[in-house]
Amino acid sequence: MSLLAISKIAWALGVVCWYVLRIPFQRKARRQKVKDASHRNLRDMTLLTISTCGLGIIPGIYAVTGWPAAASYPITGVQVVAGIAVFIGALWLFWSTHKAIGRDWSVTLEIKEQHKLVTDGVYRHVRHPMYSAFFLWAVAQLLLLPNLIAGLAGLVGFGILFFFRVGREEQMMREAFGPEYDAYMQRSKRIIPGIY
Ligand code: SAH
Repeated sequence: MSLLAISKIAWALGVVCWYVLRIPFQRKARRQKVKDASHRNLRDMTLLTISTCGLGIIPGIYAVTGWPAAASYPITGVQVVAGIAVFIGALWLFWSTHKAIGRDWSVTLEIKEQHKLVTDGVYRHVRHPMYSAFFLWAVAQLLLLPNLIAGLAGLVGFGILFFFRVGREEQMMREAFGPEYDAYMQRSKRIIPGIY
């Protein structure tokens, strides 16, 4: 098997693991009643669609068909090993954030009945570690798919979701938790501990 085939399969396996990992958490979260869904709107659904294109559809088309061929470049073993390592790290972080938020998780912006603010564990130093995990997935995609368009699509697609959403999410959390969230914002960063 070629290095390119191994790399594409590693990417696809990572994506499948990601979705499978989420299933039990999704089931649990669905049972929890929603208290405020006012931030669940067309804008947020559009952002989710853009992100899915960048992390799934565009790289998926490339992995299967090789399109767009003009944007491809040769792959190296170092890249594949680094890509797999980053994807494993992303999966671990993703699982940890789901475990921490539990029933209060939602794919769009929602506040649940008896929503508990989590500020420790993987949430101690950054307030959006699940988004950090998605960025790590996007970096793994860039490493594993040697094609400029398919490789970068994840960073661009998820980047759009993140930057258009994060301010609104923090606003929603401040409305729901008041000074508790303000204080949490003071002592934490968004996605990179100590930096941003
Ligand atoms: N931005 C977070 C969570 C993403 S899931 C992260 O990247 O880890 C999105 C939902 O999580 C939001 O609808 C919000 O209700 C909930 N949420 C966000 N931050 C939270 C926190 N610190 N504690 C509990 N729930 C949180």
